[in-house]
Amino acid sequence: MRRKLVIGNWKMNGSRAANTILLAGIKAGLGDARADTAVCVPAPYLAQCQAELTGSAIAWGSQDVSAHASGAYTGEISAAMLLDFASKFAIVGHSERRSYHQESSALVAQKALAGVNAGLVPVVCVGETLQEREAGKTADVVGEQLDAVLEVLSAEQLAKIVLAYEPVWAIGTGKTATPEMAQEVHALLRARVAKKDAAAAAGMQILYGGSMKPENAKELLAQPDIDGGLIGGAALKAADFLAIIAAA
Ligand code: PGA
Repeated sequence: MRRKLVIGNWKMNGSRAANTILLAGIKAGLGDARADTAVCVPAPYLAQCQAELTGSAIAWGSQDVSAHASGAYTGEISAAMLLDFASKFAIVGHSERRSYHQESSALVAQKALAGVNAGLVPVVCVGETLQEREAGKTADVVGEQLDAVLEVLSAEQLAKIVLAYEPVWAIGTGKTATPEMAQEVHALLRARVAKKDAAAAAGMQILYGGSMKPENAKELLAQPDIDGGLIGGAALKAADFLAIIAAA
């Protein structure tokens, strides 16, 4: 039985003052939620998360990680640095990084490898654009993105990652994939992982992301292969984030 996992992706939002209010709100409302919970925050706020969330049921992490261990990589943040602040997760290959920072699937796979080798849980994002979906290419696109990761991770390493399906056309647009559309892709991704390792596939948490909100979370999370959510906009309001966690 896979545990449900709900991760907030704050993107480039927040301030020390606003974060304190948001984190306190989430902590206060969490109760004895059955789902695992985390926030992936801008790197400067990891220390704040460590200070304000240690001892709570909420884990934290980053929105990216370098493929390199250390050295002359100006602007990059290594897995070891993230672990220095007790981070658990690192999102890799978010569509905003793939499109605005030209990250290839091969680079995303190297980031996932660096993360898993260091002891982080990489949250590997895959997803198709609207154009790709309309051209009937969804399976090919997410398959190619996933294959890059399957190529570089061993079965043992694969068992330590989280996958997130985020259709690009649903991110921040208010358009959500229907539960059936999302389930279809989640099942396809799991089957593709299973070709490499059945046990890793059976245990892998595959999150849905893209305009998930309190109103649609329950139905999405009821699908057999949807094991949680990667939440953008709705993770910035404690009440909305908590409602999604409760739905899981
Ligand atoms: P959204 O973002 O929930 O605002 O659509 C999800 C994401 O990009 O991770």
